[in-house]
Amino acid sequence: MNKQIQFKTMQFINQRSKLPKLDVHFIELNEKTDKRREGKNKMKTMLFDLDGTMYRGPQPIEAGIRAVNFCAEHHIPYLFLTNNSMRTPEENVKHMTDMGYTNVHAEDFVNSAMAAADYAARLDPNKRKAWMIGQNGMRQALFNEGFEITDDHPDYVFIGLDKTADYATYSKALAMLLDGAMLIGTNHDRILAKPGGFEVGNGAVVTLFEYATGKPSPKIGKPDLPILETALKKAGISKEDAIIIGDNLETDVALGYNNQVQTVFVQSGVHQEKDIERLQIFPDLTVSSLDDVDFLALANA
Ligand SMILES: [Mg+2]
Repeated sequence: MNKQIQFKTMQFINQRSKLPKLDVHFIELNEKTDKRREGKNKMKTMLFDLDGTMYRGPQPIEAGIRAVNFCAEHHIPYLFLTNNSMRTPEENVKHMTDMGYTNVHAEDFVNSAMAAADYAARLDPNKRKAWMIGQNGMRQALFNEGFEITDDHPDYVFIGLDKTADYATYSKALAMLLDGAMLIGTNHDRILAKPGGFEVGNGAVVTLFEYATGKPSPKIGKPDLPILETALKKAGISKEDAIIIGDNLETDVALGYNNQVQTVFVQSGVHQEKDIERLQIFPDLTVSSLDDVDFLALANA
């Protein structure tokens, strides 16, 4: 299928988007952000997923490098949107430049830790005491939103991916939650793909605390709205000017599908085209590689 036809298909399928869920939050966001856009590049912003879209573990996806370079050369705005809360943006830059990416900067990243800290910061301006399970990405996100990390009656306990946390750490977090702290999990991914198998996802750990305390965590990461709100705020755009690009139907594509944001589904990671009908999550555009995407047409549509 050539690019022109694919793009028309995308516009057609987009009319089928379900779940009209426009909310007040978006309206506020749009009013604020439209001001920031005045006089700026009016092209749509690409929100690229990382794992399975830009790389697989330590291996780059070459079409991802070409896609980012193309966007940079043609002044198409882009951000990287990831549920992985472990790395700071600076660590993400190093991870990607080490594998051959060039047009990647710390300010280009939005992760689920940043979205979680942003979400909690908006809940109550007077609550800034937090304890966390997580790594550098979680710690930096809390610091940047003005949270003090303390185990002395924190207002929130944040749960981000931490492959080193143990039973004693979990029990310490549980004690603070039972003492009244609010549970905030950065994302609800059940499992993580790794070369040759799977690992426990952060969502499985968040669910451990939900079960132990009987109280749910808000849903922050993809496919839920808060991480998109954080990304739109950072980009200074409204959702009509965003395009979500990723390999996972249940997170990347569902985020767009449920919130009326255009999506590109690339079959370089966890899902394939045959999964669309099974999951009933419909991308606007399906490609086998990012090389098949006409980014200029997408950005200017
Ligand atoms: Mg992915």
